Amino acid sequence: MGTEGTNGRLDQIEDRLSGAEGRVEALERDAGVFTLCILVLGCVSALLLLRGCWGGRAAMATPGKARPSLSLTFDDGPSRMTPRILDELKAAGVRGTFFVLGARLQNRRYCGHLRRAAREGHRIANHLWSHRSPCKLGLAGTMREFRRCDRDIRRCLGSKLYHKAAVLVYRPPFGHRCNAKAITATGYRVRMWDVADLGRSASAMWRKAKFWARWKQRRGSRPHITILIHHRPDKLRHIIRNAKRASWRFAP
Ligand SMILES: [Zn+2]
Repeated sequence: MGTEGTNGRLDQIEDRLSGAEGRVEALERDAGVFTLCILVLGCVSALLLLRGCWGGRAAMATPGKARPSLSLTFDDGPSRMTPRILDELKAAGVRGTFFVLGARLQNRRYCGHLRRAAREGHRIANHLWSHRSPCKLGLAGTMREFRRCDRDIRRCLGSKLYHKAAVLVYRPPFGHRCNAKAITATGYRVRMWDVADLGRSASAMWRKAKFWARWKQRRGSRPHITILIHHRPDKLRHIIRNAKRASWRFAP
């Protein structure tokens, strides 16, 4: 009996021990699964983080993702069309740059238009005095026209408006860059254009602007487009409407 009782207790102890072992195994299994889950989650988070960083860097380094921007520039003014151009710009809430011919400012009415442009926040830049090609003017002639144009802009605007609106930017007549180095040596920057209005309809201009923006994106450069308009508020309106629809940004 004594031996049987002892054996029975031993069996009970064995049963309990095996039960406890089972529970320990189950706990170990659970702990293993938990650890595995944590590891997987950690790896996934790290991968997402890396992808985010790389993706972010890639987005910054790839101008292909950048929104195109547009500068509106107006040459050979001011003219009788300048008030309508200013009306269009005001209605759209957009600022532009006016490349002025000094000779135009002999006309007091045109000078008034330039003053209005400056008051309304547009930039005023130099396009020489008489619109003669700097290649024909020679160095001395180009510099004479350049200084005379600047002097007449200052005279028309007055000191306060001149300092508000005049910028150190020069656009050579006909895009002829002769003697441009002498002008940039005075601190001015030469500003050319991507799309001009001469001989082109407004829709053709917009198509060309989109083409150049895509080309610049593919090349990896900033998709900024400068439009040149002479005296055509109708073309300006078309370009602004399309650029706004396409969510392009505007820069002066
Ligand atoms: Zn011009």
